[in-house]
Amino acid sequence: MEFFQQLSDHDYEQVIAFNNNATGLRGFLAFHDTTLGPALGGVRIWRYPTDADALADALRLSRGMTYKASLAGLPCGGAKTVVMLHDDLRRGEAFAGLGCMIESFAGRYFCARDVGITDADLAAIATTTRYVANEPSPELGDISEHTAIGVWQGMRACLSFGGITGKIRVAIQGVGSVGHLLARIVKREASNQPGIESVELLLADVDESRVAAAARELGASVILPDEILAADCDVLAPCALGGVISPESAARIKARIVCGSANNILISPDAADALAKRNVIYAPDYLVNAGGLIRGAEYFLQGIADSHPSLMRIHERTRHVLDLARERNVSPSVIADELAEARLIRPKRYDNLTWRGSVNSPAAS
Ligand code: NAD
Repeated sequence: MEFFQQLSDHDYEQVIAFNNNATGLRGFLAFHDTTLGPALGGVRIWRYPTDADALADALRLSRGMTYKASLAGLPCGGAKTVVMLHDDLRRGEAFAGLGCMIESFAGRYFCARDVGITDADLAAIATTTRYVANEPSPELGDISEHTAIGVWQGMRACLSFGGITGKIRVAIQGVGSVGHLLARIVKREASNQPGIESVELLLADVDESRVAAAARELGASVILPDEILAADCDVLAPCALGGVISPESAARIKARIVCGSANNILISPDAADALAKRNVIYAPDYLVNAGGLIRGAEYFLQGIADSHPSLMRIHERTRHVLDLARERNVSPSVIADELAEARLIRPKRYDNLTWRGSVNSPAAS
């Protein structure tokens, strides 16, 4: 598809391609929409097969951030940075360079951790910009932990909505920053939920040592990455990369609930319909994985010390979306999209501005 047609289809505000030969820094920063306020969005580093894949990821993820912020009622918009991982990348210097670029936006963009980003990367970005969630820090806390707590709130809402009780099995795909913390929370909290007697955890990760360590710690079973989507379980929590559920793979899912942190879990909107047809309760990702964004927005933009009360509201928001979806007989994604879009119907940043001259214009002299 033509590039600008792609931007026009979802009204992207600005897309920046960046490059630095000295450090090997290359990637894209997409601003989707800043109607509601400055953009917040993570930095992802990944070995993308092609430049087009990296761009597509930045576009998809930045739009997801706009929707996530809007649905959570936050005063911020959506952006995302993707950095291309390659053998000649001088990582520390490259991230310091990225920080410089982010600083140049003077607060229009705040970044945070996403897939592949280490503490050292965040620290390198923070050497050159103030606009980064350099965590964990005592004031900001751990962004991934906030995300995991939010996903658990969404999962609780799904469990009660589905009337699921007794012994439950929860399968988690990806035990990285969020997935591992989510596993700990589920293990600790699930049996305190009304009607839930006990929980068994099934974990999968392409990193064998990581999944083995998490399983040892939590007394969980390990299953192969290829088998996790079709695992025999009550809840499937995709917490690795997006694009894991298609209409075809939806047909193999045995879980009664899909609720995880991964951005863009569904390959296409018809995957949501396929899940709904099979009575699988789907919690839209950007509804339940907003915890980290909520923390970032409350810390940077609103000066709020403790975001836990806002994280708890993900429970009622998820329940509201699921109730409306049942009432209208549509998938929860349709409801979540509508609620998010309702807040975005207002003039955009660069709509119909009146030209009042500039220092170089005759009007100003
Ligand atoms: P991470 O890189 O720390 O963890 C991802 C894990 O998934 C890794 O352990 C990786 O080995 C594993 N993995 C990759 N491909 C896999 C596969 N095919 N099967 C099984 N495991 C696989 O990333 P994270 O920060 O935990 O984020 C996880 C997901 O949640 C991402 O989609 C991210 O965009 C989303 N998310 C994260 C946050 C946050 O606060 N970190 C917030 C919102 C959304």
